[in-house]
Amino acid sequence: MWGRLCQGLIREFGVRYFSTRGRAPAQDFAGVLLAGLAEDGGLYVPEFWPRFSTAEIRGLRGLPYAELAAAVMAPFVDGAVADLAALCADAYAGFAHPAVVPLQQLETGLFALELFHGPTLAFKDLAMQLLGRLFEQVLAGERLTIVGATSGDTGAAAIEALKGRRGIMIAILHPEGRVSEVQRRQMTTVAAANVGNIAIRGSFDDCQDLVKAMFADAKLRRELRLSAVNSINWARIAAQIPYYFAAALALGAPDRAVAFSVPTGNFGNVLAGWAAARMGLPVARLVVACNRNDILARYLAANDMSLRPVEPSLSPSMDIQVSSNFERLLFELLDRNPAETERIMLDFRAGGRMEVPEGAWRRMQGLFCGFALDDAGTEAEIGRLYRASGYLADPHSAIGIAGARARRAERGVPMIAAATAHPAKFAPTVERASGVCPALPARLADLYQRPERSVVVANDLAAVAAEVRALAGRNVAEGTIV
Ligand SMILES: *Cc1c(COP(=O)(O)O)cnc(C)c1O
Repeated sequence: MWGRLCQGLIREFGVRYFSTRGRAPAQDFAGVLLAGLAEDGGLYVPEFWPRFSTAEIRGLRGLPYAELAAAVMAPFVDGAVADLAALCADAYAGFAHPAVVPLQQLETGLFALELFHGPTLAFKDLAMQLLGRLFEQVLAGERLTIVGATSGDTGAAAIEALKGRRGIMIAILHPEGRVSEVQRRQMTTVAAANVGNIAIRGSFDDCQDLVKAMFADAKLRRELRLSAVNSINWARIAAQIPYYFAAALALGAPDRAVAFSVPTGNFGNVLAGWAAARMGLPVARLVVACNRNDILARYLAANDMSLRPVEPSLSPSMDIQVSSNFERLLFELLDRNPAETERIMLDFRAGGRMEVPEGAWRRMQGLFCGFALDDAGTEAEIGRLYRASGYLADPHSAIGIAGARARRAERGVPMIAAATAHPAKFAPTVERASGVCPALPARLADLYQRPERSVVVANDLAAVAAEVRALAGRNVAEGTIV
């Protein structure tokens, strides 16, 4: 009775969100969507985790993906979003596979969950396509400027999701000459007036510093109403939970448990898997699969979270040392103690080593385990998979699949590896490793013929800010932004 009443109230008003560092005001869903990072430097988390009963999970079986997504996300979203089901239907209608997130069996007990059938061929589309629509609805005609730095996938997914959206202007900075050709073309060939591509004469870190500096400039921030769609945005995590349900249901959940292996960078994807487990999905294992930047694997093996320099690899979207979303899990492992979370995070930033209490680390090991694979191992895995089953995996997905195979026997449940990018996105590596050049899907086949639009700007804050202002001004003049 009481549970039913609570569920009813959640549906009506939605859960509220608190910062992991406890010193920022609580927000509703619309607030965390627009804020991204909390004012105290923390990350927003729901005040409690909604839980589905076994019967409720069984009731989700067989739903089309968009309906499943709306049902799983409903407890996190409040009245600011009028018709979540319609937004989900619209967001996922553009995916190239009718199942949206199809499962492919690779071997006995080993499956690939293909998350790359969206417009930019990477799993970021699953969250971004919905986010673009949520922004538009929550803003209700008010204007907003999204700025971001990208080393590839995030920028393309954000541009694709926000192109032509009412009131929203998006400027994405990328390091000139340092993103793959497919990734660059996916950003620069979008012909929408509200999209600006700025190629910076510098590195990805320079791009990130420029974005941070723009946010730190209070005047500019207010003038352009700056916002971000980076991976610490809670709405992105929420939008990634449903595909864990979809895959597990397809393999017999809630009556049978499953395990997942997730190629990991910023810890957003695998955190969504943890959230699914917390919401009642029977998940026996989460493998955190890393490339040579293996800080999370070292942490899981030996409670050693010590920073090393980022090394470039064949799986660039996982070339990360500080996984921002880890803070959300840390907060939970510390029994939601914000003061302790903040202290550990600040010490980590200052000293380069995270001191997680032994008990919290052990609790994480109950569900998570680590796996790491270097470039040579990644190429070997791509070749092996192709020869054994004819399956072409991109380097990120190959790491996830190798992690799944390494841990498969452990808990006697089906192992599902997240396939996070289409092989054609990383064609040179895939061809070298397998002997086969993966073709771009038909809808992108003319990508190399489309005209590109971008401006090259020096690594200089004033010059970049002027460019963003000019883009926003042009849009107001053209009536794109009202
Ligand atoms: C972003 C990305 C990842 C890493 O995901 P996180 O949520 O940052 O852990 C893995 N693979 C691909 C292809 C990506 O684009």
